[in-house]
Amino acid sequence: MWISIKKAKQTESIGHQAQVRGWVRTRRDSKGGFSFIEVNDGSCFGNLQIIADASLSNYESEISTLSVGSSVVITGEIKASQGQGQTTEMVASEVRVTGIASATDYPLQKKQHSFEKLREWAHLRPRTNSFGAVTRVRNRLSYSTHQFFQEEGFVYIHTPIITASDCEGAGQMFRVTTLPLDKLPMRDGKVDMQQDFFGKSAYLTVSGQLEGEVYATAMGKIYTFGPTFRAENSNTTRHLSEFWMIEPEMAFFELADNMNLAERYLKRMIGDCLRDCAEDMAFFDKMIQPGVLAALQVVLDKPFAHLSYTEAVEVLLKSGQKFEYPVHWGADLQAEHERYLTEQHVQGPVILYDYPAAIKSFYMRINDDQRTVRAMDVLVPGIGEIIGGSQREERLDVLIERMKAAGLKEEDYWWYLDLRRYGTVPHAGFGLGLERMIQYVTGMANIRDVIPFPRTPGSAEF
Ligand code: ATP
Ligand code: MN
Repeated sequence: MWISIKKAKQTESIGHQAQVRGWVRTRRDSKGGFSFIEVNDGSCFGNLQIIADASLSNYESEISTLSVGSSVVITGEIKASQGQGQTTEMVASEVRVTGIASATDYPLQKKQHSFEKLREWAHLRPRTNSFGAVTRVRNRLSYSTHQFFQEEGFVYIHTPIITASDCEGAGQMFRVTTLPLDKLPMRDGKVDMQQDFFGKSAYLTVSGQLEGEVYATAMGKIYTFGPTFRAENSNTTRHLSEFWMIEPEMAFFELADNMNLAERYLKRMIGDCLRDCAEDMAFFDKMIQPGVLAALQVVLDKPFAHLSYTEAVEVLLKSGQKFEYPVHWGADLQAEHERYLTEQHVQGPVILYDYPAAIKSFYMRINDDQRTVRAMDVLVPGIGEIIGGSQREERLDVLIERMKAAGLKEEDYWWYLDLRRYGTVPHAGFGLGLERMIQYVTGMANIRDVIPFPRTPGSAEF
């Protein structure tokens, strides 16, 4: 019976005949007339040790020269391991080689490669320990997301990837077009967008929020989980041009409910990951970011800190810290400020709220002070902003005023405004960047190393 290596490594498998299929990580030949082959199939961090005896018919011709990266199908009996570091091993009765990886040119030989180098081999890097571990954590966080929201009664909504609503931040959107770039149709000295595929300009989505609000104001509680695109030219360790965002949106939720949900969701993901990816997390703790396990455990045990933007600015001003960008009330907080607040001041996650209206989006609910909006950002150590959200402006007249001030045209948002015309309700939501969450729990320094095929300015290989 074909079983996963994860299963083969469990004590319950001892005494069973089984088959495993995977890729060779190492091979050692013993003078006693047999070889140890370590095989990995991606199901877990650890390899299964195979003992292949010289009496196997293809021992001389194939097994004794098996190279790293070769694919094998192995049948045998699972036994309690005599050796250290593993509980089980398999004594092979058959080792079938399905594909050789040449020992001279397979790039992933036993030596350690830098993450930069491995990015050039994005097609092979999932076969390394680090990327296998990242991939399983990414999978667990995605699964937790669906479990958490489904158990809370949320409805999963698929919002469009191509959007024709000329949304806020059009400057940082990728245009979607079928117009011939070498022969653009012109009208009155401008490109005639009416001749484009959709009869108007279209873009890749930067957020599913506006459409999410449509569904929240019918279904109650919804979430989206999909790819998101930003054409901003930021070459940082926490920005991608294509990333995955989870955006819950809840009717009848106010800012405090929103904050509470964000905290419970983050804790749920961390708890699931610590429990179900223990082996992978132990690797991150040992090799990538010493202390990450203990830090996440503390996060689980403590309520998140809350600070208003105004309080945060006071903390920064009193910090005595030299920042590259000076702080003053009204300034957008930079990564260095966010990291000071979460790493030095709070030493854990912190939710900042009530930001100046001028630095936040038009749809955020304005406070009675008329200067601040009901925004909330969740900041975490090592990353800075991981979640951005708000209570939305549900009052039609106020929203129209805010749009005017932002230079937006009412007719472009007619359907969004209709939500306030017909049965408006207080509502709120937020967006979590999946990759930043993965960075946070794994300690991986560069966001390019937590997504299978990173897209960044100047780079879209694979
Ligand atoms: P930042 O200021 O860090 O660039 P933002 O304020 O532009 O982020 P939002 O529009 O609030 O980001 O998006 C919500 C969440 O999506 C962020 O909190 C972050 O987790 C994630 N995110 C935003 N931009 C990116 C990006 N370019 N790459 C990866 N994740 C991103
Ligand atoms: Mn934000």
